[in-house]
Amino acid sequence: MYTAEFTYHRAKSLSEALQMLQQNPEAKLLAGGHSLIPAMKLRLATPPALIDISRVPELKGIRREGNTLVIGAATTYYEIETSDLIRQTIPALPEAIEQIGDPMVRNKGTIGGSLAHADPAADLPAVVLALDARLKIQGPSGAKVVDVDSFFQGMFTTAVGQDEILTEIHIPLSSASPSAHAPTQAVRMAYEKFPHPASRYAVAGVAVVIGVSGVRAAFTGAGEHAMRLSKLEQALSGKPLDPQTVEAACQNLVDPAQLMGDHNHSAEYRAHLIDVLAKRALLRLV
Ligand SMILES: Cc1cc2nc3c(=O)[nH]c(=O)nc-3n(C[C@H](O)[C@H](O)[C@H](O)COP(=O)(O)OP(=O)(O)OC[C@H]3O[C@@H](n4cnc5c(N)ncnc54)[C@H](O)[C@@H]3O)c2cc1C
Repeated sequence: MYTAEFTYHRAKSLSEALQMLQQNPEAKLLAGGHSLIPAMKLRLATPPALIDISRVPELKGIRREGNTLVIGAATTYYEIETSDLIRQTIPALPEAIEQIGDPMVRNKGTIGGSLAHADPAADLPAVVLALDARLKIQGPSGAKVVDVDSFFQGMFTTAVGQDEILTEIHIPLSSASPSAHAPTQAVRMAYEKFPHPASRYAVAGVAVVIGVSGVRAAFTGAGEHAMRLSKLEQALSGKPLDPQTVEAACQNLVDPAQLMGDHNHSAEYRAHLIDVLAKRALLRLV
């Protein structure tokens, strides 16, 4: 299959990308292209123009700002997987990323592309929900920062508007130290996934973070978009985290009526997977 015809524009800076978006309101941003190009080849998307943001310097890189880890939206999975700073601060993030697709996908795919695309079966939406991230979005009239809880709004729908660009992902680190040079206690996170045997996308995936204020957990793959596992968070609130408590808490976490089913994996089966994966993730951490 071939894509429909389109014009190609490569942005050299964030302001140029925003300007190009204004000039081409029907255009799509091109980051790693590993979701967009397949959709274009299947003619599920036929944008008249692509704006390539993969080399925009303001969208690249990983840095620490005090107690926050800042990841540029066009940073590739590979760059995150191999970052020393990520391995020191959130060692489980490379582990989660290693479960995405294959090396070709991870060499080109970007964290911002994954989050902005909001595929219901993508892995990172659950991970950033559990990590309590904040998303920086730049538009023609300035920047806004959105809590991850209000970022995912539906299937393939997020808080990023047509004339806006997701620019940064901000992840709070567990250390209370305000110094950018102080050693940070690594974030305690685990991600467990049941991959689709053909696509390797998540049939269901669960991310769990144990932080100073308790457990945050989220699932992906089973609903219209990634969602918090509120029942689990409440069941563990104020309790000692031991295997018995975990076992008791990981029962019927999500009502199958809230989930999607297909001819391979029913909603009931996905609900069961969420219980199992949540238990596995928590047991790894406790
Ligand atoms: C064979 C294969 C297997 C895969 N397996 C998995 C898997 O197991 N798990 C998984 O999670 N994913 C999987 N993927 C998807 C992959 O992770 C994609 O790379 C990712 O979802 C999209 O990132 P991208 O950078 O390629 O975005 P693109 O494909 O370039 O863009 C996707 C969409 O997001 C928009 N966009 C991109 N960047 C921004 C931005 N900064 N601001 C606003 N909008 C933006 C684009 O306009 C487009 O609409 C797989 C893909 C393939 C081809």
